[in-house]
Amino acid sequence: MKKKIAKLCVSFALLMGGIATSGTVSLILCIAAFLLCGAEVVINAVKNILSGEFLDECFLMSLASVAAFLTGQYPEAVAIMLFYGVGELFCDHATERSRDSVAHLMDLKTEEAYIKKDGSVIKVDPSEIKVGDTVVVSAGQKVPVDGKIISGSTSFDTSSLTGESIPRDAAAGDTAVSGFINLTGTVEIEAAATFEDSTVSSILKLIEESTDKKSHAEKFITKFAKYYTPAVVLGAVLIAAITPFVTDLNLSESITRALSFLVVSCPCALLISVPVAFFGGIGAAAKHGVLIQGSNMIEALAKADKAMFDKTGTLTDGTFHVSRIHSEHLSENELLKLAAYAEYNSTHPISVFIKKESGIEIDAGRISSSEEMSGYGVCTVIDGKRVLVGNQKLMKKESITCAAVETGCVLHVASDGVYEGYIVISDRIRPEAPKAIRKLHEIGVSKTVMLTGDTESAAEKVAKAAGIDEFKANLLPNDKSAEVEKALSGNPLIFVGDGINDAPSIARADIGVSMGGLGSDAAISASDVVLMNDRLESLPKTILLSRKTIRIAKENIVLSLFVKFAVMILCGFFGADLWYAIFADVGVCILAVLNALRTLKLKF
Ligand code: ADP
Ligand code: MG
Repeated sequence: MKKKIAKLCVSFALLMGGIATSGTVSLILCIAAFLLCGAEVVINAVKNILSGEFLDECFLMSLASVAAFLTGQYPEAVAIMLFYGVGELFCDHATERSRDSVAHLMDLKTEEAYIKKDGSVIKVDPSEIKVGDTVVVSAGQKVPVDGKIISGSTSFDTSSLTGESIPRDAAAGDTAVSGFINLTGTVEIEAAATFEDSTVSSILKLIEESTDKKSHAEKFITKFAKYYTPAVVLGAVLIAAITPFVTDLNLSESITRALSFLVVSCPCALLISVPVAFFGGIGAAAKHGVLIQGSNMIEALAKADKAMFDKTGTLTDGTFHVSRIHSEHLSENELLKLAAYAEYNSTHPISVFIKKESGIEIDAGRISSSEEMSGYGVCTVIDGKRVLVGNQKLMKKESITCAAVETGCVLHVASDGVYEGYIVISDRIRPEAPKAIRKLHEIGVSKTVMLTGDTESAAEKVAKAAGIDEFKANLLPNDKSAEVEKALSGNPLIFVGDGINDAPSIARADIGVSMGGLGSDAAISASDVVLMNDRLESLPKTILLSRKTIRIAKENIVLSLFVKFAVMILCGFFGADLWYAIFADVGVCILAVLNALRTLKLKF
């Protein structure tokens, strides 16, 4: 960057010298200036032609400046290259800035980690950490891998992941997600995933891939440039060849005209400013804890008009409480413990709650196998006994007669085919859910639907409280994705899930959104948008942000095309000066990029 600036400055000084002097001295100064700022562009143009990809902007610029040189317009020839260089520099800077705001997420990565081994703490590379290792994280350090705190308490700065500025308190039993910064105490964390499988790695992968997913607007521009450049070259040749016959200009004057036509026609304003606008939009969202996987999703979000939601963990916040326990043989407490053991391997919000509620330390040695049946519950072998915990459907499937309970979310428990009783839990609707749904309707999302595996009565209560238009209950995960499939048509469809057991629906929808993706690798890689801040109201905000981003990108397309065509006509047909063409070209490029950079500052 600095080298580039220095080159341009020296070249500018030489050009000034060239203009001030005359004759051979002027020519030598101009040639020196040209070589400094233009040689690279000409070399690039030649390289591109050799690789079969000619007629790009390097070619346009080289053609224009070399032709200017040949017709004796030395200072103009230098100016074309010089200002093209300035424009490029400016655009590089803009791209870098928009990239920065996404890249501050890159800062999540830790270079070193400390693990406990044979009683002493040793330093290792994060990639060497194995599942089950005890990782020691002191104040000021970043959590290297996802895991569970086993001792100590602290508060975490989660802002680079969630955009949340208030530190999050955490103590033994809580999860620690890679990328959190430990602010106060030292904690020991049991690694639940390797570095490769941790949240930070999946986010980084996502960001790397996001630039490959191009929006229609960007694809349009690439296509446009393909036909545009040859058309422009042809136009310039025609102007040079025909004007001497139809006007009283001589050949050299008509070539000058063709040249200015070439200079202003360079589409760099368009080529650079539109991707910068999209990148800025993605960056602005990232700053607030919303990851958008590519510009095509910005486009889809802006047009979305239907949204479907999962219930547990999405419209409700997953903080449950036990409202009733009924046990056939064991004490209530023992039933809860049995359920907690059965849920040991599951990450479902229900399991997380049951384990916490039981308050016991689980001895994993007693568990020999466990299976999660999405939409039903879990089946785990504990001390050789096959324990089932789940809903009525699960009991029916296993031919176990269970008590009929109508209210709330009911977890039936059975051990080796014997019914043990049930636990009724209820969860709380997210406090921000009604407002978020209202906002969605306000901004033009015409229909909201809730899909749930829970019972009709539990579903109705939540749908009503959240202000959801429609709901469907008693669905298995497969039924959910079938519902999503059915609803696909016309404008893009959003599905919001917790990402743990809704992956099929998230993948099926046009825009798969996962909430609370933190700590769930599968959720992050399956979804198009991740609300890492775990806030439902981010959804309408992200839609609005996308619309603004699209508007800015469109403004740029219209602005640059309009100015281009206007100046092209002025230069080609009315003989505006070559200098005018040079300034118009750089001017529109800078304007467009400045406009694109506004996306970075969009309110969220
Ligand atoms: P939702 O659509 O509300 O998110 P899920 O599809 O996650 O529901 O689950 C549907 C139902 O299946 C739950 O209401 C519960 O009864 C049962 N269930 C699912 N997973 C578990 C589990 N790990 N433990 C107990 N019950 C479960
Ligand atoms: Mg769910």
